[in-house]
Amino acid sequence: MRYVSTRGAAPSLNFRDVTLAGLASDGGLYLPDAWPRWSAGEIAALAGLTYPQTAARVMAPFVGDALSTDDLLSLCEQAYGRFAHAAVVPLVQLDHDQWLLELFHGPTLAFKDVALQLLGLLFERFLTGSDRPLTVIGATSGDTGSAAIDALAGRAHVEVFMLHPAGRVTEVQRRQMTTVTAPNIHNVAVEGTFDDAQALVKAMFNDAAFASRYRLSAVNSINWARLAAQVVYYFYAAVRLGAPGRAIAFSVPTGNFGDVFAGYVAAKMGLPVAKLIVATNVNDILARALTHGDYARGEVHQTATPSMDIQVSSNFERLLFDLGDRDGAAVAAQMDGFERTHAMRLTDAQHSGAGALFASDRIDADNMMGAMRWAHEHAGQVIDPHTGIALAAARRAKLDVPIVTLATAHPAKFGDTVERATGIRPPLPGRVGDLFDRQERYVTLPATLAAVSGYVAEHASG
Ligand SMILES: *Cc1c(COP(=O)(O)O)cnc(C)c1O
Repeated sequence: MRYVSTRGAAPSLNFRDVTLAGLASDGGLYLPDAWPRWSAGEIAALAGLTYPQTAARVMAPFVGDALSTDDLLSLCEQAYGRFAHAAVVPLVQLDHDQWLLELFHGPTLAFKDVALQLLGLLFERFLTGSDRPLTVIGATSGDTGSAAIDALAGRAHVEVFMLHPAGRVTEVQRRQMTTVTAPNIHNVAVEGTFDDAQALVKAMFNDAAFASRYRLSAVNSINWARLAAQVVYYFYAAVRLGAPGRAIAFSVPTGNFGDVFAGYVAAKMGLPVAKLIVATNVNDILARALTHGDYARGEVHQTATPSMDIQVSSNFERLLFDLGDRDGAAVAAQMDGFERTHAMRLTDAQHSGAGALFASDRIDADNMMGAMRWAHEHAGQVIDPHTGIALAAARRAKLDVPIVTLATAHPAKFGDTVERATGIRPPLPGRVGDLFDRQERYVTLPATLAAVSGYVAEHASG
């Protein structure tokens, strides 16, 4: 399989190169040149497979000949062997039609582990024998950073620079990143918002000389391999609830549009997805874009769901490309306009195409708390606030099919809000260890390109 850029001006790559590259050289994001299509029989054949077996089967068309079938399965077994639940991503029933898919049983307690544990192993495999180290640069609103750091700490041929917005991640999230002492891990607190941090990362990638000198690579959800790994759990859950014989809806707490875009990919492959509910908090750029066709950036509001406090959703560009006849030049012009004016109009094809599969809902703090209380009082489930946003949207959706809410973080990761909603303070699971006793290591830098790229240049080994 070959991968093409959403902006139409970067070389096409295979799975290995797309994994290592992250962002395309024209500033676009990579996508398969065509969607693999599965028959109902192929989907039905997933019934009974374990999670790692399902992962190897679903990812095979995307991996192509970059890995043998046996190698891919063995990497999946290794990655998901580190999860604390024997089912890897257990499905929990809340009421007749409402389900939770628990994606937080990995080492850092958020769904990011599902993709990043595998990505860490793919990096190691694809870099074996490499003479120049890869420099992974990422911006995190909290959970990507810890998951990437856990997945890449101590791995050969990789240096990691992880930017987080200073003071805007929880103490657990910060400590999960800053207490990792492997010498290839560099934590940077940026004095700004997540969007500021993400803009700095983009600027470093857009500097072609800098990017090639340090062999920059990305592990946030612009990295295609991450999305491919997330497509898996849509199949896994849907097949357990009756697919392909019955359509399933998903409600997804959305920030950067990566997770829910993986659901779109599953639908493109033939999975019967009745609806994808894009659940946002009050940072509702996506809800506004999907409802009115206006993609316009607002102010970032800090909420109890920091992983969704985003006003620019990188992966939305992938949807615009796929729904816009895959016209890279047109998307490049659209994105240029957006970067200049912070607003754009979706074309009619993009707006109506999105409306066919996606629904969106903006959930405020009261509705989120209400959903968290409901899950606890009526189904005995303690859920985190991000999951609360998606469950609130799922319960308002009024669909006639089973709705799976993606449970994206362990409740202990956001203990204060969980306690306020339910009166219960969930304990941190033993697997995170003595987080509060360990020494932290990070630098704080102003949100300027000079400061951050200077720091990378000083500490990268490129
Ligand atoms: C990252 C994250 C999200 C948002 O996922 P996107 O792929 O950015 O849309 C939601 N919830 C949690 C807990 C997260 O860590």
